[in-house]
Amino acid sequence: MQQKVDVLIIGSGIAGLSYALKVAENNSVFIVTKSNEDESNTKYAQGGIAAVWHDKDTIEKHIQDTLIAGAGLCDEEAVRVVVTEGTERVCELIELGANFDKNKEGTYDLAKEGGHSEHRILHYKDITGYEIERALIAQIRKHKNITVLDHHYAIDVITQHHLGEVVTSHSKDIKCFGAYILNTKTQKIETVLSKITLMATGGAGHVYATTTNPTIATGDGIAMVYRAKGRVKDMEFVQFHPTSLYNPGEHPSFLITEAIRGFGAVLKTIDGKEFMQKYDERLSLAPRDIVARAIDNELKTRGEDFVYLDCRHLDRKAFIEHFPNIYNKCMDLDIDPFVNLIPVVPAMHYLCGGILVDNNGQSTIGNLFAVGECACTGLHGANRLASNSLLEAVVFAHRAAKLTSENLPSISFTENIPNWDAEGPEHAEEMVLITQSQREVQQIMSNYVGIVRSELRLKRAFDRLEILYKENEALYEKTTVTQKLGELRNLICIGYLIIKHAMRRKESVGLHYMVNYSKDAVK
Ligand SMILES: Cc1cc2nc3c(=O)[nH]c(=O)nc-3n(C[C@H](O)[C@H](O)[C@H](O)COP(=O)(O)OP(=O)(O)OC[C@H]3O[C@@H](n4cnc5c(N)ncnc54)[C@H](O)[C@@H]3O)c2cc1C
Repeated sequence: MQQKVDVLIIGSGIAGLSYALKVAENNSVFIVTKSNEDESNTKYAQGGIAAVWHDKDTIEKHIQDTLIAGAGLCDEEAVRVVVTEGTERVCELIELGANFDKNKEGTYDLAKEGGHSEHRILHYKDITGYEIERALIAQIRKHKNITVLDHHYAIDVITQHHLGEVVTSHSKDIKCFGAYILNTKTQKIETVLSKITLMATGGAGHVYATTTNPTIATGDGIAMVYRAKGRVKDMEFVQFHPTSLYNPGEHPSFLITEAIRGFGAVLKTIDGKEFMQKYDERLSLAPRDIVARAIDNELKTRGEDFVYLDCRHLDRKAFIEHFPNIYNKCMDLDIDPFVNLIPVVPAMHYLCGGILVDNNGQSTIGNLFAVGECACTGLHGANRLASNSLLEAVVFAHRAAKLTSENLPSISFTENIPNWDAEGPEHAEEMVLITQSQREVQQIMSNYVGIVRSELRLKRAFDRLEILYKENEALYEKTTVTQKLGELRNLICIGYLIIKHAMRRKESVGLHYMVNYSKDAVK
């Protein structure tokens, strides 16, 4: 089956939805999304969205904080774009119906997180992402030009390759004509032809064994663009959140937001001793990479499985008011934050790298934009500043939407696109092979390409992953495509890209910490 639409959006998180609302005025829009319409990393964002909001704060301060966190590898122009245009975009979210907490004076209750020199994080309790997603979906549902196709899994973008032309990574003028989409309810693969496609598929947390990301985060968009010979950048910069709840058996891991440390919670080892003074003068509020490495080092040297977050000295009423979700989660596990310490461990949280885009979200493939966590705009450099990612998504969604609307009148549909090979294999592979291979990828990445890396570990990871790659490509050729098989293929691709980029970078910088290039005692 072939369908035609002006704009095809793959992903229904903050990036896809905010872009959709801006391009839909005069154009038909499909949003395909592989799970329920609201399932996304966005939905789980706790801390909030950063924006310059009050007189004491300045654009320049937010820019400097972002550049410092990025360890010298940010694209300064992208940083300036996001911070300068950010406040206006947050105002639009408010106009669209997103609520953010206010204080008694009626002004926004701004939180402060690690690496920020000012209070500038707008939040809605500790479920900010849920609130933003709710507000955007409510608007999307009202829009007559937007169709949401949930439980539709994008397999690959369509380029000249599908017309039989040879496309290499050096090819100029690769163009995107739409995508092949698997309807996971009917198991039929549909061809969606579009004039412009937006990749908004989010992160890739599930390439690691422990992650705060929901199960949709398998790096599909980045892998699709890489296969289509688009450029991908900065994949070595993987952000581990220092404090996910240590609760063996729970996947994904529940996040304990950084805002709790901003609120006064303190990290301690199991024997109740503070340890951050050994690593950074900003103590528990040091940037995420430093805190995650410090915890990782304490766990390795002490042979323990978790550290504690001590909230016992905090104001109970204010805590419950600010963090009701976290409070309830802890209480469900019989951890009363005012009596007990909360056990935490680092978990894969955010991918700084992704599809290389310019300052309008345009990828290196014609008519293909990428926005949100799957894109690499240069904002984060070697490390993301907390609460900058939701902001990046709305700023770039706006810019990409503007260019899309300008470009659309001059683009026509490409004809003669073949449907997905209907004569292909009919045999469905055993799930056990797929889940076992996925676990193996996650173990390889967690053991050898985690918070602390070395040349030797990277080489070992590369060799092990290559075996899985070959096995999976063979499986893919002879098996009916399913979402699980496609996701495994994408996770292997993401693992390969992280390792390849990590091997290329011969230094220790930001989130890419290599024992070979560091004088610290951290191993
Ligand atoms: C627990 C947690 C807390 C966070 N807290 C904060 C915070 O406080 N502040 C902040 O700024 N950032 C935070 N982040 C990061 C932030 O939430 C994400 O970076 C951001 O929401 C990404 O938005 P997105 O639209 O790019 O992707 P997502 O919101 O992840 O949306 C991706 C969409 O793509 C769909 N999709 C993926 N692959 C396919 C496919 N093959 N076919 C069809 N659909 C597909 C998914 O189903 C989903 O709808 C947090 C992240 C997590 C996980």
